[in-house]
Amino acid sequence: MFIGIDDTDSRSGMCTTFVCKTIMDYISQEAHIVGFPRLIRLNPNIPYKTRGNGALSFKVDGDPSFVWKTVKKGIREFLIDDPSTNPGIVLLEGEIPKILTDFYHRALHEILTIEEAHSLAKEIGAKTMFYGNGRGIIGALASIGADLPDYTFELIAYRESENIGTPRHVDADSVKRIDRLYNPIIFDTYDWHNNYIAIAPNAPCPVLYGLRGGDYKVIQKAANELLTEQVFKQQVFITNQATDAHIETKTICSIKEYNSVHINCKVTETPHFEHKGHLFFSVEDGAKSILCAAYEPTKEFRKIVAQLLPGDEIEVWGGVKHTAYGMTLNLEKINVLSLVQKTRYKIPLCCGKRMRSIGKMKGYRCKKCSKKISESALETISIKRDLKKGFYEVPIIARRHLAKPLSRMKL
Ligand code: ATP
Repeated sequence: MFIGIDDTDSRSGMCTTFVCKTIMDYISQEAHIVGFPRLIRLNPNIPYKTRGNGALSFKVDGDPSFVWKTVKKGIREFLIDDPSTNPGIVLLEGEIPKILTDFYHRALHEILTIEEAHSLAKEIGAKTMFYGNGRGIIGALASIGADLPDYTFELIAYRESENIGTPRHVDADSVKRIDRLYNPIIFDTYDWHNNYIAIAPNAPCPVLYGLRGGDYKVIQKAANELLTEQVFKQQVFITNQATDAHIETKTICSIKEYNSVHINCKVTETPHFEHKGHLFFSVEDGAKSILCAAYEPTKEFRKIVAQLLPGDEIEVWGGVKHTAYGMTLNLEKINVLSLVQKTRYKIPLCCGKRMRSIGKMKGYRCKKCSKKISESALETISIKRDLKKGFYEVPIIARRHLAKPLSRMKL
């Protein structure tokens, strides 16, 4: 049978992975957990998420009534009184039906309703229990339904209860050493450019750190080499993180709000900075255009994007939301396919001096002899583009859980 759990945490505490781990430990006393538990990230653009829109599930062999009783007891133990916390649990016996996997795919790309989650649970004969408005049932079902054509692992280490809420002790040098030794098998560990330890969260939750990578044995070895405060428990999860599972290749016409998309397009507007350091530019794909944004948290990525010019052909990846600027694609990465020639006018010499501009598109005049020359008569010279063709991604500090790092892509 499969157990799905979601929405047990709030911004002020707890973490659904910890609730899941604790429940698994209770269940293991009388039943057998099969394989790795699954940490499944769902639509990163939805408004309801606490942080990373993660949902949990695991497979278990044993007595269903013992398992269900234990899961319910575990959920009750960690109940948080917060209007944004709406825990949901699901128990499904037998195989995973295709409609459940389809539901997972929709949960990655769209916004689903609590009602459709309930009717699906009924249709597939899954047991459910929920608190609050029951939104957690959506993630609990989707996590069970997830197929993982590509996957990664995350080892999550939890803190001793008396340490929760105090500053975490994770030695930065040991994190850097892990990155030097094991990157790219282990990724998203340390952001060298921004001096940022990516493995430790900032929230007052039970997580001490999470190590992510493609090989769980290497991750386990690396975890033993980290210098940290006392670890209470740890667990390896199989995940859809860093796989681009949220991305669909689309035309701009077919994009809907909350989708995460990959599009082939052409830059139509020189990128420009708006307030707070956010960078914007437009692209079109022959039928429609859309605004793209590299927001301030994407740091040095903006310097790359700022070099794009109208006419450049690019691929873009990102999540789509309505903003004050209209429908906007929040960039996760780009691939520069072709660059237009950058040119400027060669300002002619006259009477031994450069001629002066007499206004935009109005041409140039010699200050001494008043000779005029129109813009169209000017010679143009090409300027070398600093931007190179190829892939560019946001730095680790701004990376979304689901975004596939370039180090995992076959470039
Ligand atoms: P964390 O990552 O810290 O575990 P979170 O960001 O996962 O927290 P949740 O507390 O799980 O946030 O809240 C997300 C809520 O949104 C859950 O109730 C989940 O069932 C629901 N949900 C997930 N995906 C969708 C979707 N595509 N449409 C509608 N609701 C969704």
